[in-house]
Amino acid sequence: MAGKYDAIVIGSGISGGWAAKELCEKGLKVLLLERGRDVKHLKDYPTATMHPWEFPHRNKIPLDFLKENPIASRCYALSESSEHFFVKDKEHPYTQEKPFDWIRGYQVGGKSLLWARQTQRWSKFDFEGPARDGFATDWPIRYEDIAPWYSHVERFAGISGNKDGLETLPDGEFLPPWEMNCVEKDIASAIRSSYTDRFPVIGRCAHLTEPQPIHLEQGRGKCQARSLCERGCPFGGYFSSNSSTIPWAAKTGNLELRPNSVVHSILYDDKSQKARGVLVIDSITKEQHEFEAKIIFVNAATMNTNLILLNSISSRFPNGLGNDNGLLGTHVAFHNYRGILNGRVEGYEDTYYKGRRPCAVMMPNFRNVRKQEMDFQRGYMTFYSAYRPSWGRGGEEIGAALKESLTDPGGWSVFMMMQGETIPKESNRVSLDKNNVDAWGIPQLSINVDYDENDLKILNDFFEQGQEMLEKAGVKSITKTDTKQAPGLDIHEMGGVRMGHDPKTSLLNKWNQLHACKNVFVTDGACMTSTGTQNPSLTFMALTARAANYAVEELKKMNL
Ligand SMILES: Cc1cc2nc3c(=O)[nH]c(=O)nc-3n(C[C@H](O)[C@H](O)[C@H](O)COP(=O)(O)OP(=O)(O)OC[C@H]3O[C@@H](n4cnc5c(N)ncnc54)[C@H](O)[C@@H]3O)c2cc1C
Repeated sequence: MAGKYDAIVIGSGISGGWAAKELCEKGLKVLLLERGRDVKHLKDYPTATMHPWEFPHRNKIPLDFLKENPIASRCYALSESSEHFFVKDKEHPYTQEKPFDWIRGYQVGGKSLLWARQTQRWSKFDFEGPARDGFATDWPIRYEDIAPWYSHVERFAGISGNKDGLETLPDGEFLPPWEMNCVEKDIASAIRSSYTDRFPVIGRCAHLTEPQPIHLEQGRGKCQARSLCERGCPFGGYFSSNSSTIPWAAKTGNLELRPNSVVHSILYDDKSQKARGVLVIDSITKEQHEFEAKIIFVNAATMNTNLILLNSISSRFPNGLGNDNGLLGTHVAFHNYRGILNGRVEGYEDTYYKGRRPCAVMMPNFRNVRKQEMDFQRGYMTFYSAYRPSWGRGGEEIGAALKESLTDPGGWSVFMMMQGETIPKESNRVSLDKNNVDAWGIPQLSINVDYDENDLKILNDFFEQGQEMLEKAGVKSITKTDTKQAPGLDIHEMGGVRMGHDPKTSLLNKWNQLHACKNVFVTDGACMTSTGTQNPSLTFMALTARAANYAVEELKKMNL
């Protein structure tokens, strides 16, 4: 079986959903290929309104599951209520040359159902970083190139935040912000008054605090702060492909969504010197199908995008599509989440906060921002929150003990964590493990990614500075934890198909087109030249919308 389309989008997660929406809206006939099952908004969120006592294990993960899925279970968001959206370890094996916890969601919507929805823009300093500090390769774009596209995706997705006027964390098109509680406010004031370069602000996240007409048109409503997001939100209160971009694309009449379609490879045509389509294996029937299109967007998420390109072999590209320089799969980077600080706050016992909140306080990076000044490169974003721990215990006790415990809010605690930039290096790379194939005969991905000395220096700086800041705010009994978690568990893997000016040192140009095969666009995390210190998905969305707009313009000019 074969079909012909204007565009094929591989992967229906955060970035693929955006590609489908933009291309369909601009009139292209789009085939959206997704390896996993379909997940329809509302209908396929079976646990969304369940109470803890309605789960066989009170929403805890049974031991058998933990033993069978040590990798997936390490993700904090996996519970009895969300495990159906996570890839199980044995079903999709991969080769770990070094420990790497690869957390995945193979279904329509991908990880957009599971993500924590924190969304910050990059600043000009992040795009300028590699060229200034001499690592990775220069980004072929600057903040000004992407700023209008941040606005474009923010308005549609719905991002809550405060206009803070910080150069290191540009403001966006915000819905009303969430609020800091009284302890968080006092810690923020103490930090701001003790340092000239540190600015704690309330987190920015993809939650509808005040839905606008564009959100109501999507059928989405206000976030109810239920904090049950990874089950799928029946209110559409947070942004997911399922509640937002995919149904929007479908409404145009231009979308064909094909779940259970594992993309094996992209097919290259020597004559036209373009990709002509993709080879798909139906995950249920195991039949092979070819689909053809004028342009292809690869949005299978960083690691699988690398895998698909590496597996797209032709006589022109014997080492993977677009891989003339041998750099495909290299310079993979991630975020360093290893540092955690906890502490106790005295007083405030007559103060309370109400309800739940989908974000924490965050503080943009303050290291090496304007010049290289530390004995390490780049820096880290800091997050903290203050809370009364006993309130979270509901559900563990029963009867009178439960009621008793709920009347005692307990003292205040503080939690602080880092999100460190890692430096992309050629040695941090992925490749095909030709000795091991998956259930569809596709080589497994072999992952060789690790921390380095720079990451440990950043970790130590976070420990020192975090402790100092908390002490200045009067926090007591501070403990430091190095989680020593393996790369991957941050779920912010990026790179392998990086953007750059020069085809000798990069795979993609400034429009996310493969230098060597112009009708193939890579706009998920694989395209990232460096990682910044921000949560990455907003940038993937903006790059995708920008590239889709460009692709349609080029198609009109018959350049593709
Ligand atoms: C618990 C958790 C918390 C997170 N928190 C945040 C956060 O706060 N902020 C943030 O910015 N990011 C966060 N992330 C990361 C975020 O989810 C990802 O950055 C984002 O989903 C990446 O979008 P994507 O389109 O590249 O990939 P995905 O959303 O993973 O979508 C990729 C899709 O491609 C499909 N696919 C893969 N291979 C193939 C193939 N061969 N053929 C066909 N289809 C294929 C997959 O099944 C999947 O549906 C979090 C992730 C998790 C799991």
